[in-house]
Amino acid sequence: MITSASLEDQDRFRRSLSGPTIKLYFCDMIQGVLDVAPVETNLQAAVEHSSVIRKRVEEEPGIQKMFVRPETSKLGLERFLQCISPDLRGDLPTHDMTVDPADPTRILSNPIKWTGDALYELHRTAHHLGSPDVLDMITDHILERQDELELSVAEMNRFAHQGGVLGIRFWTDLILNNEKRTKKLRLVYGDWGWSADMFSALRRKRKMRLPLNLYHLDPSISCRQYHHHHTKEGAGICYRDVVKARAAYSNDHGDEML
Ligand SMILES: [Zn+2]
Repeated sequence: MITSASLEDQDRFRRSLSGPTIKLYFCDMIQGVLDVAPVETNLQAAVEHSSVIRKRVEEEPGIQKMFVRPETSKLGLERFLQCISPDLRGDLPTHDMTVDPADPTRILSNPIKWTGDALYELHRTAHHLGSPDVLDMITDHILERQDELELSVAEMNRFAHQGGVLGIRFWTDLILNNEKRTKKLRLVYGDWGWSADMFSALRRKRKMRLPLNLYHLDPSISCRQYHHHHTKEGAGICYRDVVKARAAYSNDHGDEML
């Protein structure tokens, strides 16, 4: 059965298109502006959660449209914007949404299947647009569903490298966390598929025999070990805390939020 997005998410989507907005056009160095409809979102949210958009708006206050490199599909960009607009989500979006062209009061939605490719595309977009919050949301999503994702060595390499030092730490811990998975990977790929950085980190950690247990990891540890908001680009505040504070505020103030 195909489910629709929750009413709360539909409302979020409507709000993400309201207020001052910014339109993002795909533009490539060779072909110029691509023939893809722009993606529109709340300006304030985009400025808060994308360092690339923030920098552009600081250079040109009042800007209503900007160009982004086509490193992601339109769908990938829309999913990224759902994560941050009109405010940060507590987890990845569940549905792709569009306004019904025949009836603008209706939102059309389609369930998202978070495959390795879909996650990687979101990861690449978050990396490209400078959004530690979304990178952290993806890390938590993968951590919670680590046994459901079937990724090849090449796919894990590219995820890890995009995440830099934190990416290599996270992916090597994740690989070694499940002995069966580690054995299976060694059986299928030997030790040769890994990038040099991944290979040496894996070898070092195997020797250390760290008592890893990522299945029941204290959230404060996963935050400290794997989250990007502690880095130079991040605001220092965990997206989980932002979402919690907003929920507490809304419980206390209720109608004032509306
Ligand atoms: Zn955190």
